[in-house]
Amino acid sequence: MSKHHTPTSQPHCPDMRIFAPMQILDGKLVAQTVKESLKTKTAQHLAAGKKQPHLAAVLVGHDGASETYVASKVKNCEETGFKSTLIRLDTTATEAELVAVVEKLNQDTGIDGILVQLPLPKQINEDRIISLIDPQKDVDGFHPVSVGRMVQGLPSFIPATPYGILLLLEHYNIDTQGKHAVVIGRSNIVGRPISILLNRNSYPGNCTVTVCHSHTQNLAGICRQADIIVAALGRPGFLKADMVKEGAVVIDVGITRVPDPSKKSGYAIKGDVDFEAVAPKCSYITPVPGGVGLMTIAALMKNTLYACEQKNIIS
Ligand code: NAD
Repeated sequence: MSKHHTPTSQPHCPDMRIFAPMQILDGKLVAQTVKESLKTKTAQHLAAGKKQPHLAAVLVGHDGASETYVASKVKNCEETGFKSTLIRLDTTATEAELVAVVEKLNQDTGIDGILVQLPLPKQINEDRIISLIDPQKDVDGFHPVSVGRMVQGLPSFIPATPYGILLLLEHYNIDTQGKHAVVIGRSNIVGRPISILLNRNSYPGNCTVTVCHSHTQNLAGICRQADIIVAALGRPGFLKADMVKEGAVVIDVGITRVPDPSKKSGYAIKGDVDFEAVAPKCSYITPVPGGVGLMTIAALMKNTLYACEQKNIIS
């Protein structure tokens, strides 16, 4: 039983437990706290005559969601006191053109962090581009060197979304040691790295982790055994109340645009969790929007400051 649960002492109902009220993991609040701290550190750096952190973002094409994410990253740089450079390439850009941009950014000593917004148009090989980024500037943490170092528990960039989840768990002091964490999804950017990080001998970590995917059998039964569930599969409302045990911690990573004529934009953002039904059973839960998405950008900012401070982490 989690330390967040309070067993009753009623003698006639030995199995009945009173659970602590559900608490929202407020990504907006925590992201703001992280950014305020980064802003203070950046101001101190500048006052000490040190370099201003500088993030370069590369956007290929005009995908709506990617445009929104990149604009938000640039805005967050401004708010935090970082410099940012946005490089745009047309949807029809060739792989050679993007390679040339990345190589130029690698050479530019003024740039601390490089992010190439994914997904890329299909004529460009994403894996090749990611592996061309200088590992010392790999603030997205997708380069094989970063991933290898993360797996080995060495200092490294941690991919922004999993890092944001860790920061949330840490902020709310959520107990993870010895807990059973079930991660739904095994992508390189969310599911796989968060499963490795929750399993690390660290805090947050020391979980026993089960990674589920599209071929997993009895997924509902596995989820019912979880103390912590990370839903990262991209299927709106997938995690239902009957898949969650009382008192579980639920982290909803999903972001899907669902048509909604009542919205000015014409769509609503939906998570992978059936929030209304699941939330009352949880000890903690992230909302969508207002949860992991905002933490992802805060974590990217942390990685950028780290890149600026630790020019030589890859020894
Ligand atoms: P992906 O498509 O790369 O991977 C999805 C994973 O889910 C796969 O491993 C697949 O095996 C698994 N899956 C699919 N259907 C399943 C099912 N029915 N049962 C069990 N597993 C199933 O997706 P991704 O890039 O990891 O993103 C997942 C979701 O998270 C998306 O909605 C994405 O938009 C969102 N996302 C959010 C953030 C954020 O900042 N909050 C960041 C990245 C991704």
